[in-house]
Amino acid sequence: MTDAIDLDAALAEAHIPTLMLSLVHLTGDAAHLRPEWRPVYDFWGDGQGNIPDAVQAEIRAKAKAAILAHRAGASLHTPSLADVRRMMDFIAGADIPERYAPFLMEELGLDGADARAPAAIAPKLAAAKRAMKVVIVGAGMSGLLMAYRLQQAGVAFEIIEKNADVGGTWLENQYPGCRVDTPNHMYSYSFEDNHGWPHFYSTQDVLLRYFQDFADKHALRPHIRFATQVVEARYDEAKAQWAVRVRGADGVETVIIADAVVSAVGQLNQPRYPDIPGRDTFQGPAFHSARWRSDVDLKDKRLAVIGTGASAFQFVPEIAPLVKDLTVFQRTPPWLGPTPNYHDPVGPGKKWLVEHVPFYDKWYRFWLFWMMTDGVLEAVKRDPHWSGPPSAVGEANAMLRQMLVEKIEEQLVDRPDLVDKVIPAYPFGAKRSLRDNGVWLAALKRPNVRLVTDPIVAITETGLETQSGAHYDADVLIYGTGFKASDFVDTFDVIGREGRSLRAHWAGDARAYLGALVPGFPNFFMIYGPNTNIVVNGSIIFFSECSVRYIAGCLDLLAETGAAALEVKRDVHDRFNAEIDALNAEMAWGAPHVSSWYKNRFGRVSQNWPKPLVDYWSATLKPNPEELTLHAAQRSVSAA
Ligand code: NAP
Repeated sequence: MTDAIDLDAALAEAHIPTLMLSLVHLTGDAAHLRPEWRPVYDFWGDGQGNIPDAVQAEIRAKAKAAILAHRAGASLHTPSLADVRRMMDFIAGADIPERYAPFLMEELGLDGADARAPAAIAPKLAAAKRAMKVVIVGAGMSGLLMAYRLQQAGVAFEIIEKNADVGGTWLENQYPGCRVDTPNHMYSYSFEDNHGWPHFYSTQDVLLRYFQDFADKHALRPHIRFATQVVEARYDEAKAQWAVRVRGADGVETVIIADAVVSAVGQLNQPRYPDIPGRDTFQGPAFHSARWRSDVDLKDKRLAVIGTGASAFQFVPEIAPLVKDLTVFQRTPPWLGPTPNYHDPVGPGKKWLVEHVPFYDKWYRFWLFWMMTDGVLEAVKRDPHWSGPPSAVGEANAMLRQMLVEKIEEQLVDRPDLVDKVIPAYPFGAKRSLRDNGVWLAALKRPNVRLVTDPIVAITETGLETQSGAHYDADVLIYGTGFKASDFVDTFDVIGREGRSLRAHWAGDARAYLGALVPGFPNFFMIYGPNTNIVVNGSIIFFSECSVRYIAGCLDLLAETGAAALEVKRDVHDRFNAEIDALNAEMAWGAPHVSSWYKNRFGRVSQNWPKPLVDYWSATLKPNPEELTLHAAQRSVSAA
């Protein structure tokens, strides 16, 4: 839209709580932030927080006048810090605890500064950083971010990427219907807004383009070796350096010497195929959702899909209308979180508001961030005194369950036979819930689709056999069976001090300090490492931004102290993990009777961060030298 916008039409699309805060910047008047108009907390929606229609109309009218005045040259007002604090509480629909204030203030970023950029560093230290070289493994969302921060910090880096392009998960997952399930106006780097998201939850191609554009804009591609696999990273204690052996597409291996290695390989990209007898006997095309075969024409075929997790949930509704028949094999149903705008485009009016109304973009992102932050965390905590059924973990969890069950039942009035099959027996929060706008159950209700809950016992040449003895014929078999998520950093060998292998050290039970550091592996860092996944709160990009700041801070510490390498002290690491384990056991996903990819084969939750986001943010602001052992090349000294 240009100056000839239809402001009324744009304002009709406004998120009113956001507009109310922009109005404060436009007019300096905060009188409309009345307690009785405070929006109610709304985890799933793009709702108006129950603000009455008459109030909405009044706000739109005031905003219209103020926007026109602003466009005619009226200056903006800068709310005081106390006012900003009040504004935060208002839009959150909650009295935000004081300890969240600095964290949220940074996330809000009203001053437009990139607060998570590396701090300026004295020239002498800058020279020390210039002398460093870092190898980053992976050019997905986290690896690109690490590279950008190192570029800003003046540290040399090289990215090794197994694929032919950047984008990681958004490059590899090209199944029909693939899209983000975190609202896009916050699922983006905090410093790299995109005002033009075409959908509230954008599709894979749009996200891939966002990361490709990021790599181009910041000239990161020349630092990436594409189609190259890291084979081994081996630490040389005497030199305090890593020898990173990589294999190019031609099979030729080379060794890169680096001062530090950052693994940004992700958790969810090694396909997991089910251990079902006969898997190799199936005669038709069979493939995993993350290795989608676009060369296989599904039209008029009989399809079998194993799994009803986040991936199948997205592709089943897309392919169901194309195929002759589709049998969905479900072991455990997913929880469905009502999200009416899940597939909706962002209207032109809303896009205009995001782009042109002062601070609308900031507050809209903030509102989404807060909705997703910690508000719902209490409802997935286990109440130790809970005496109700195991389908919930406490009173609030049981209430949430009831609400969600009603939403499912509303969609199945015409198919009562499906109700019991699709209502999870496990508590909400034990697995990731999926965003529901009705298309999933509508697909399951189609005449050419059947949902089978009878366990699969064998895969045959022509289909799948279940426990009851039934056989389901299929021309094509698709595995929506997820990833080997517990096998952290499993695609290359990491050999640390004293020749110890990381794989052997973990023995299938990966642990780290803040998801980033492992004792015995100096200057080996991870992004999205153990216990940094989130189930109901926040976005992984936020986590990566925190981890990357922490890792960049570790490199600063090396420059400041003149040490060659650092590693976390074992007792610090062990204490941290004991706390994480105890806290995960208090969450729905840690309940002994639930199973998911969050737990490893020992039953330990190796994926999830159990605390509020603010705690990861504050723990990763800056490394604490007392928690680390610093190594000089050839010798070892303690920082404490
Ligand atoms: P997933 O959530 O692990 O789902 C795998 C599905 O396969 C589950 O329904 C699982 O059942 C089933 N399964 C596994 N082995 C089976 C067997 N032997 N027989 C029958 N069923 C079997 O995997 P995913 O759907 O690929 O998603 C993984 C994660 O990736 C998600 O949780 C999410 O974090 C992320 N993801 C995000 C998006 C998005 O943002 N839009 C999209 C896709 C994925 P059980 O539940 O019983 O194990």
